[in-house]
Amino acid sequence: MKLYVFPGVIEKEILDIGSHQIPYMRTNDFSLIVKECERLLLSFIGCKEGRSIIYTASGTGAMDAVVTNYVATKKKAFIISGGTFGKRWHDLCEYYECVNVVYEVSFAKDVNYIDLENRIAEERPDVFLCQHHETSTGQLFDIKRIASICRKFGISLVVDVISSFLADPFDMDELGVDICLTSSQKGLNIPPGLSILFFSKRLMEYSYFLHKSFYFDFDENLKNLLRGQTPYSPATSLFLQLHERLKRIACIGVSHVIEDVRKKAIYFRKLCAENNWIIPAENPSNCITGFFVNNNGDKVFELLLKQNIFIMPGAIKSFFRVSHLGVQSNTDLDDLVSAIKKIENQ
Ligand SMILES: *Cc1c(COP(=O)(O)O)cnc(C)c1O
Repeated sequence: MKLYVFPGVIEKEILDIGSHQIPYMRTNDFSLIVKECERLLLSFIGCKEGRSIIYTASGTGAMDAVVTNYVATKKKAFIISGGTFGKRWHDLCEYYECVNVVYEVSFAKDVNYIDLENRIAEERPDVFLCQHHETSTGQLFDIKRIASICRKFGISLVVDVISSFLADPFDMDELGVDICLTSSQKGLNIPPGLSILFFSKRLMEYSYFLHKSFYFDFDENLKNLLRGQTPYSPATSLFLQLHERLKRIACIGVSHVIEDVRKKAIYFRKLCAENNWIIPAENPSNCITGFFVNNNGDKVFELLLKQNIFIMPGAIKSFFRVSHLGVQSNTDLDDLVSAIKKIENQ
């Protein structure tokens, strides 16, 4: 099986953890593992003296939690919507009846930051929701510019870094971000099933979180995690895989992990250029390469599947996405390109 998706190819030692008997979790040993996970995660994202919640849920679970506990305490949310995931912030706000303004960004385009600032000056929202990387197109937004606009207007900034964490540089404290979130199957490249929220030190003094979501309640989860325990049964094996993966990242160093992803992205983009496959993103994230094939775009996905090769289709005809997360060599990328080329030339 050849995987260019989320998760990508998982290290064998980490996969093996999932095949072992599952230790009981209401123990001091498990608490220590959870606490170490929290400590390492916070250090990787540059959130000194902040806190984190690890939910047994996919990434959308953490987005949902942010809206019910936090966004719902605000008067007006401002949302950048550059694709599927920006739209998800909007869908969640609508679902929970939170007042929101959507700033639409065209497919794979960057934000016009001057126009954005004008809109913010008009709308005066008190919370800002965006993605660092809009995974449906491959576009990476300029989070420094977004953060500086939020700072200027005193807006609380929430960033979905689900697909940029460990793929593109990001420092939460430096940017002044209040809440970030990620999930296990993207940059961490372990099986899906965990999502992680990061709270800045400043936000820990916020005392107005709502209690509208029993399972995802911030206060209840934060209180339990102080002693390294989750209020409800955790996905124990996933926590053990997370722990092992975090220890490995700590050994390699976050900047090296990111550099490795970047090198794979650059290598693949060179191959795209050689084949005239256009990459529409104005400023692509290292996480994925989104590109258009020129021929047989309607057959590529299915014919690759038949060979046990998995890439991600896009919402637009002939547009595909290849992830650079996980274990991936240049040869793996060469092989993928020749398989696609064969289909194009059929
Ligand atoms: C993957 C992803 C999500 C969450 O999706 P789930 O399927 O719930 O894990 C949210 N935002 C972004 C930017 C993503 O890439």
